[in-house]
Amino acid sequence: MYDTVKTREDFPILSRTVYGRPLVYLDNAATTQKPRCVVESIVNEYYSVNANVHRGVHFLSQQATELHENSRETVRRFINARSASEIVFTRGTTESVNLVASSFADSQMQAGDEVIVSVMEHHSNIVSWQLQAARKGIVLKVIPMNDQGELLLDEYEKLFTPRTRIVSVAHVSNVLGTVNPVAELIRIAHAHDVPVLIDGAQSIPHTPVDVQALGADFYVFSGHKVYGPTGIGVLYGREEWLDRLPPYQGGGEMIKNVSFEKTTFNELPFKFEAGTPDYIGSTALARALDYVSALGMEDIERHERGLTLYALSRLKSIPGMRIFGEAEHRSGVVSFLVDGVHPLDMGTLLDRMGIAVRTGHHCAEPLMRRMGVEGTVRASFALYNTMSEVDALAEGIERACKMLR
Ligand code: PMP
Repeated sequence: MYDTVKTREDFPILSRTVYGRPLVYLDNAATTQKPRCVVESIVNEYYSVNANVHRGVHFLSQQATELHENSRETVRRFINARSASEIVFTRGTTESVNLVASSFADSQMQAGDEVIVSVMEHHSNIVSWQLQAARKGIVLKVIPMNDQGELLLDEYEKLFTPRTRIVSVAHVSNVLGTVNPVAELIRIAHAHDVPVLIDGAQSIPHTPVDVQALGADFYVFSGHKVYGPTGIGVLYGREEWLDRLPPYQGGGEMIKNVSFEKTTFNELPFKFEAGTPDYIGSTALARALDYVSALGMEDIERHERGLTLYALSRLKSIPGMRIFGEAEHRSGVVSFLVDGVHPLDMGTLLDRMGIAVRTGHHCAEPLMRRMGVEGTVRASFALYNTMSEVDALAEGIERACKMLR
């Protein structure tokens, strides 16, 4: 097991103060802080290797290309994809979902065809499909959940019809922390010959992921949530599927030959990577994945589980506390409200104590509607958080309650 206190030294920002108090950063589901090795990777590559990738014969271009393609291999290994050609670099989860929704709807769906999503999706996995619904007349169907925040598998099975073309669901809810039974969801979909996209934005930083073991057809995530830089993310797609989908954007890199009469497209994964890729970001993302791999994803998961269980027990002893999301399988996201206290007021007072949490609808308005609230306060944990930070949160909430009631 890694040493949390020592690990914190790798993250310079964690030793800063806000309003004169030590920072307690509990907004990790929105974005994580960066270890030194990730920031240094960005600086070093700009200072010593920077050149555009793929087409250059010169030394720097070849070195930059090697770094970029090695990073693709690092991502492949991290999620156990079969081939590096199944790893497409994108700007993040949102762009990855939009890519699949657009190319899949264009090539595989007709008016009246259906996509199954769940009630706990992030807006990116709702609105991307709604844009296609508006364009092509496809229909969204929604998996409901129980009051603990668990998807209802019986209801899920009933949603399949001969018109179902794809299922698109989150691995882990960014509001409830529910870990959805994705292997089972995929097994059921495959029994109906329907492929599945898994939104891994909230799972990749917290648990080992093996896309082949899960059987996922598409798996998407953002670099910045797994200690990597902003502006880079990943679309994993099984080769059989990526081969069948048309390009998402046109430009350089994604073509084989271009003439005004006919253009042929590059092979995978370049068919989906139009324009100069974020090769600085891909190297830094690979450093982030190396970093968490060295700590051990199982140990990170165990550490965060300990924090979450402790946070739940501390918070539940606060009078008027209401926790949202009581799934049996849960991750390190704790959403809550305290009776009589507006979430924005709670978030603002915690902030003044140096405690960063998120308040609001968390880009999941349909889920808020299902829960009958407008927003919640959300604390979310990362590999570097400590039990004493959980204590600070619980004490901060108690103080805020006294001030606000
Ligand atoms: N899906 C989930 C479950 C998320 O939590 C988020 C980020 N909050 C996203 C998608 C979107 O990620 P990004 O903004 O990095 O594209």
